[in-house]
Formats: sequence, structure tokens, C-alpha cells
Amino acid sequence: MRRYSIFAIAREAMRYHSGWERAWRAPEPKKRYDVIVVGAGGHGLATAYYLGKVHGIKNVAIIEKGWLGGGNSGRNTTIIRSNYLQDASAAIFEKALQLYEGLAKDLNYNVMFSPRGLLMLAQSEHEVRGYKRTVYANALQGIETEWISREQVKDLVPIINIDGPRYPVLGALYQARGGTGRHDAVNWGYARACDAMGMDIIQQCEVTGIRTENGEVRGVDTTKGSIDCGKLAVVVSGHSGVLAEMAGFRMPIESCPLQAWVSEPIKPVIDVVVMANLVHCYISQSDKGELVLGGGIDHPNNYSQRGSWYTLEETTRALVETYPIISRLKMLRQWGGIMDITGDHSPIISKTPVRNMFMDCGWGTGGFKAIPGSGWAMAELVAKGEPGPLAAPFSLERFREGRFIDESVAAGVAH
Ligand SMILES: Cc1cc2nc3c(=O)[nH]c(=O)nc-3n(C[C@H](O)[C@H](O)[C@H](O)COP(=O)(O)OP(=O)(O)OC[C@H]3O[C@@H](n4cnc5c(N)ncnc54)[C@H](O)[C@@H]3O)c2cc1C
Repeated sequence: MRRYSIFAIAREAMRYHSGWERAWRAPEPKKRYDVIVVGAGGHGLATAYYLGKVHGIKNVAIIEKGWLGGGNSGRNTTIIRSNYLQDASAAIFEKALQLYEGLAKDLNYNVMFSPRGLLMLAQSEHEVRGYKRTVYANALQGIETEWISREQVKDLVPIINIDGPRYPVLGALYQARGGTGRHDAVNWGYARACDAMGMDIIQQCEVTGIRTENGEVRGVDTTKGSIDCGKLAVVVSGHSGVLAEMAGFRMPIESCPLQAWVSEPIKPVIDVVVMANLVHCYISQSDKGELVLGGGIDHPNNYSQRGSWYTLEETTRALVETYPIISRLKMLRQWGGIMDITGDHSPIISKTPVRNMFMDCGWGTGGFKAIPGSGWAMAELVAKGEPGPLAAPFSLERFREGRFIDESVAAGVAH
């Protein structure tokens, strides 16, 4: 793999960009791999990358039914933060944030990580108490966050209406290291690095069956034929239940859409990320000038990748009352992805009832920020067969044992 650098850009500029090579190959599947990763979203690609980089396992295929990054990892609003309440969540999201901070250098790919600061608005007394509690918890976890006043919120976000008609802003939880990244670049950077290690990324190839023998995984059936494997890592977000069923067990996951939309591009008006979890809307501005907007999940459960008008309308209502200038903007496009939601709103990185088959899912509305940490923890689980300290709390067993990691109710946060 040729390194990307300023010198490479200058060299290619001199020869009409004729020397760039393809970022990854389009190989035919081999008969057998040591590890097959199903799902070329960010989490699957990161799992493969750290399997190769940290554990030296490079005979790996990543199998994707569509195109790489075509699932939620290419559809999200790219919020990155690690200000979680529970210790287990804070540990894995902070690991991810630390990896994000060095990811462009590590992958030799500009992932456009932008730590521009992130605010979570408190608009009720309950949220004030909750976020202050999170600040104290984060201090104990070694994660720097702070409580800021409503006046400081207004200073950081001049377009906000802090005296909103329903819920005035009372203050905010602020994480200066939080921000955004470029979702496609994260997927493409990991994919290019995996390919450079000799791994096969096989796109347009759907896994249609999982072969087991005496309770142990043997391989997968796909639309490009059967492929054997020593170990199987299933990282398919909203389709986790479908893949688990192929192997004969059920997952405690619900699948439902989450949508987002962007406005026409305008001059810079907001240089932080703001989440308002009570009225449920969030906002940032892309480098192109579009306002990137979103809200809560859609019900009922389905696989439509679109979302409903009702949620769109409710979220727009919340956005307009919080940032009145939005009422003057045209919206450019809207899209949806399929969320994988667990009962405690925390992820699953786990062994399964089938030996040598592992699942990484349940990231729901907040998994973009977790990609490097999840890939790191999942790679360790797959390589060693046992979870390391980051993954251990997120096993499937917790649902049987009632050992929940309840971020949603405890912290009242979404993305
Ligand atoms: C609108 C929206 C906004 C979001 N905003 C944020 C945010 O701001 N911050 C944040 O942290 N997170 C956000 N998220 C959540 C985040 O995008 C996801 O949690 C994360 O991308 C999940 O990554 P993944 O790799 O697990 O799944 P995916 O990226 O969905 O990848 C799974 C892949 O598996 C493939 N697959 C499925 N079934 C099969 C099969 N049978 N065979 C082969 N391949 C298969 C799919 O095609 C897919 O490409 C948002 C999500 C959406 C939809």
C-alpha cells in the first residue's frame, strides 16, 4: 500500500493523478479463512483491523451483503463523545475516543476527526441532577467533562434560544474533547488498512446460512458459495437477530429505524455539537455548511431504513423551537438506518451458544463513536476466545443474570 502524504499529493498533481492505486481489491472468496467477519460496517472493519494489527491474525475475510459502509456506519450523524455514566460504558467509549484521537495517523487516512466540543442540554431539573451526577462520575473515571451555565451555553451557541417556549435551557454537560468525524472516511480508512494486510473484503455477498457441527461453527453459506472458517465474528447491527437465528439461537435485540437529515449549506453558524435529549433533537454543522440534524428512534420495529413522517415532524418542531433560524432553511435530504437496540440500551460483545461464534451488536443510536473501541475489544475476544476487561461487562449473560448496564434510564441520553 502506498502511503498517503503531502508529497504523494504533490507527486500525483505533477502527473495528472495517474498513479493512485485502488484503495482495496475486489477478491473472490477463498475456500477457508481463520476468521470470517460478517458485516463491513465500521465495527466489523475495525474488528478485522485490530485482529491483524494487535493479534497478528490476517487470514481474515470481511463479508458484506451490500457495499462496505453502506449500513449505519455510512448513515449516521457522526457524534463522538465518551461522557457516559456507567463505568463499563465510559471505559469502552473513552478507549474509542482515545483511538479516534490518533486514528488518522494510525490508518494513514484522514478520518476528519474534529474535537469541536459537545454539549448536552439540561432542560428539566431531572436532567440538571442527572448531568451533574455524570460530571462527578466522569471525574472518578478520569474523563474530563464539566457542567456549564445557561449563559455559557448561549456564548458557545449564539443561534440557540435558551428561553424556549416549552423547556428553557438550564445549563449543559460539556465535553470539550467530544465532536465529530467523517463516517465514510472511518470506514474507508479501516477497509484500506485491512486490505493492505492481505485481508479479503468481499462485497455484494450475503451470508444466508451458518454451518455448525457439534455446537461449533464450521463456516457460512453465502450468495457466492460456502466458505469455511475457524472462527466467526458477526457484526451486522440491526440484522443480528437474523444471523443468530441462522445459528439456532435468539438475540435480545429489537430493530427499528433512526433517521437524520441535512439542510441546504449555509455559512458557519455553529461550531460545536449540541444534543437536546428532552425535546429530542441534535445539531452540528458539516464542513460543507449543511446543518446535520436528527432526533429519536422510530417505532414500531421494522427494517424500512426510512423512518416516519411523525418522527420527522416532532423532531423538526423541537429543532425550530431550540434554533429558530432553522425555520428559514430548506432541507436537502433525509435518510434512515436500522438500529439494534437492547433492553438496557448497551451493546453486546460476546461469546454465543455456538462455540467460536461471537457477536458484536446492540450499539443502537450511538455506535459510530464506539467503532475503534468496539473493534479493539471484539478483536481481543475473537483472538483469545475470552473477553478482555473492556468487553467482559457486555456479555449476553448479563440479560440472564439481570446484570444490566443501564445507560438509557440512568443517564437519559440517546446518541
Ligand atoms: C441516522 C443515524 C444517526 C446516527 N447518529 C449517530 C451519531 O451521531 N453518533 C454515533 O455514535 N452513532 C450514531 N448512529 C449509530 C451508528 O451509526 C451505529 O451504531 C454504527 O454505525 C453501527 O455500526 P455497525 O458496524 O455495527 O453496523 P453497520 O454499519 O450497519 O454495518 C453492518 C453491516 O452488516 C451488513 N449485513 C447485514 N446482514 C448481512 C448478511 N446477512 N450478510 C452480509 N452482510 C450483512 C449490512 O449490510 C451492514 O453493512 C446513527 C445511526 C443512524 C442510522
